[in-house]
Amino acid sequence: MICPFCKLNDDKVIDSRSTDGGAVIRRRRECLKCAKRFTTYERAEELARITVVKKDLRRETFDRDKLMRGIRSAFGKRPVSEETKLRVVTDVEESLYRDFDREVDSVEIGKRVCEKLKVVDEVAYIRFASVYHQFRDVTELANELATLLNRPKDVKDQGKLFGQ
Ligand SMILES: [Zn+2]
Repeated sequence: MICPFCKLNDDKVIDSRSTDGGAVIRRRRECLKCAKRFTTYERAEELARITVVKKDLRRETFDRDKLMRGIRSAFGKRPVSEETKLRVVTDVEESLYRDFDREVDSVEIGKRVCEKLKVVDEVAYIRFASVYHQFRDVTELANELATLLNRPKDVKDQGKLFGQ
């Protein structure tokens, strides 16, 4: 890491600890030239990058912000807290780092997001799944809607599924 005081890129790590459920590593560092100390926060993706393999087999580095944008647009103006949206992204991200070493299919990420959204908000789930082509065709979409509608009645917002 570059020292914020003298700009030399040579330091030793004095202390490391993880925060935010392991997604962030906080490191206390000491510059080997000027001996000043500074703290860095490294996200999991900076420590071990995961490559996303898209359907057309192009590869790109996993991008948490991009995932967040997709999830935000799926929620749109749904009455869902910012905290809940962040939770969805963080849960998916952590599950990827837990289950995959270097590469993961974009379809798999989509599946995991859908599983989370299905529990949190059905409208956001259907939107996300439609945009990210989790349904092969409109029949599959219709079948999924029917499944949601036939879920037990204690699921909130069920009646609003076609309301927007
Ligand atoms: Zn320094």
